[in-house]
Amino acid sequence: MAKNKDKGLCLFCNEQKPLSQLFSSTFYDGVWICHDCIEAGHSFLEAEQAKQRAQTAAQDSLSKEELPTPQQMKDFLDQYVIGQDEAKRFLAVAVYNHYKRVLQEVTNDDVEIEKSNILLVGSTGTGKTLLARTIAKMLKVPFAIGDATSLTQAGYVGEDVESILVRLLQDSDYDVKKAERGIVFIDEIDKIARKSENPSITRDVSGEGVQQSLLKMLEGSVVNVPPQGGRKHPDQEYIHVNTKNILFICGGAFDGIERKISQRMNTQVVGFAAQQQAARVDKNNLLQYIAPQDLKSFGLIPEIIGRLPVLTYLHPLDKQALRNILTEPKNALTKQYKKLMAMDGVSLSFDDDALDYIVDKAIEYKLGARGLRGLMETVMADLMFEMPNHKKTETTRSFTVTKTFAQEKLERADLYRLKNAV
Ligand code: ADP
Repeated sequence: MAKNKDKGLCLFCNEQKPLSQLFSSTFYDGVWICHDCIEAGHSFLEAEQAKQRAQTAAQDSLSKEELPTPQQMKDFLDQYVIGQDEAKRFLAVAVYNHYKRVLQEVTNDDVEIEKSNILLVGSTGTGKTLLARTIAKMLKVPFAIGDATSLTQAGYVGEDVESILVRLLQDSDYDVKKAERGIVFIDEIDKIARKSENPSITRDVSGEGVQQSLLKMLEGSVVNVPPQGGRKHPDQEYIHVNTKNILFICGGAFDGIERKISQRMNTQVVGFAAQQQAARVDKNNLLQYIAPQDLKSFGLIPEIIGRLPVLTYLHPLDKQALRNILTEPKNALTKQYKKLMAMDGVSLSFDDDALDYIVDKAIEYKLGARGLRGLMETVMADLMFEMPNHKKTETTRSFTVTKTFAQEKLERADLYRLKNAV
């Protein structure tokens, strides 16, 4: 037994404990707290933190009363995404119906509202991901992006489809209930189309097999998700995620689908009325007539098409749209640079023709909306390097980005390098 001199009094529980189990104060001699009390304090803190997390989760989660109307959703999207009115309207209605279904009280009638996953078709860089991300931000629900090209059928080299749900769990701090109401965006769904319209004799790993694997997740099932991601292995513990109430938004460019649309429309044209209708067809934007059969001709399996009942398209961005992207969205690039410069006491402005020039370069080098950022960075780099140096010498300064300034910076740069980056 330890001698009394080897013991001390815990000031918390008032018990004598061996010195080895006491933690002493750094300020007062002989003031101790024992391991048991530290442990108790730790459990108390953990419980408090869990309570706080639950409270925040409850505040974050959507209630029926708080669910914005489709018009409110569209108004919100308008603040961040330029144009794409049809897609916004379809998306808003589908998202509204989805969350109404999720938040509905249990009723006794037999009417079951089905899930309304969404497919956005449009060239790369037209705002598909931005739309999905923005709607998730508005609803404060967890959001994850997955890329269909990295997925493979279970058992093959590549990512399992479940890996997408790992990201959703991470975005909801592993709160499974929260994740189960989230939104998942699966990009490049067109890249897993099967290569020929006829069901394959030999299964094709990259296409049809992946579509089959995705199917279960899209329609709603309990998926075993490896908590840290990576490949599944037999003795691993899984988190069970029910995907019934997860909204899946898929996106794809479906390059060449216009040909399928036009073939279908041509074969449908029979009779005088149909000929008149054909004359009204806008041949420059055939994507607006996209229908589920075209997706089938492109190589999506009918079951997947059936699980993506809301089908809409995005317009290619024209010059005016690119120009608006620079200045109009709430976090438009020009606004971001102005804010950064204001932090260094610089009032920054852009001449209209400087912005027009940048947009012209984006079009000339086919950089699209995604390339605008690279172009702006190239124009602004030297300025952002030099301006902070003068911080202490002057009070307020101003700088205007003129066309000549932008021209000088972009002419010196290798814009083909930017092309590879988008
Ligand atoms: P997609 O998913 O269609 O390939 P993104 O949504 O990822 O394209 O767009 C890439 C970037 O281009 C966005 O982060 C945004 O900065 C810009 N962008 C694209 N389309 C729009 C748009 N319609 N309105 C505003 N910004 C856009």
